[in-house]
Amino acid sequence: MIKKMTYILISLIGALSLSSCGVPLPLQSDLMIRGENAVRQFSTTDSAFTSYVEEFEQLGKTINQDVKFEVGDIPINFGNIKNESYQGVCYTYTDGTREVIIRKSWWDNHTDDYRRSLIFHELGHCRLDRDHLDETHEVNGEVMKISMMNSVIIRPRDYTRYTNPYHNELFTKSTVSLFEAWTSDQNEEEDDESSQGEEAEHSHD
Ligand SMILES: [Zn+2]
Repeated sequence: MIKKMTYILISLIGALSLSSCGVPLPLQSDLMIRGENAVRQFSTTDSAFTSYVEEFEQLGKTINQDVKFEVGDIPINFGNIKNESYQGVCYTYTDGTREVIIRKSWWDNHTDDYRRSLIFHELGHCRLDRDHLDETHEVNGEVMKISMMNSVIIRPRDYTRYTNPYHNELFTKSTVSLFEAWTSDQNEEEDDESSQGEEAEHSHD
């Protein structure tokens, strides 16, 4: 009876932590606090993720101007993620330990920029203590996420184009460089339109 109660309680905690991150969407990643009985699955990081961790540390050193910045004791590994909607999860445990788990079937089928975007998002939760930030901004008729901490992973196309501004936002929470980049792109587009207009007039002459 007690066992059954415990099981129900654990299931309930599981259900609560799953629903705490909002409506599951494709490519959504997550931040989860595990129940009291859960223990960390891994103690070291799979070599598949080493280069991404190094890159993240380098960015932390540069952007935060902190030569000692490290990811530290946050192992990253492939593993099972029950919720089909999540490709990566940052787990935090009651003993204070943390870890990132990545879905291998997703990893194997996605490009380097997508992978980096996912790892950096999870480390945003696990290492930088960031929550989701789902605000968007319209640029030339396109909806752009203002953070890599959006609960849906940013598209590689946007990440590739605005890599540095997105990294800046991730580490500093400042969207200034993102908005600067978007404003200059918007102006370029307007310039293109007006020069095309002139060309049309000329050809009419
Ligand atoms: Zn997340």
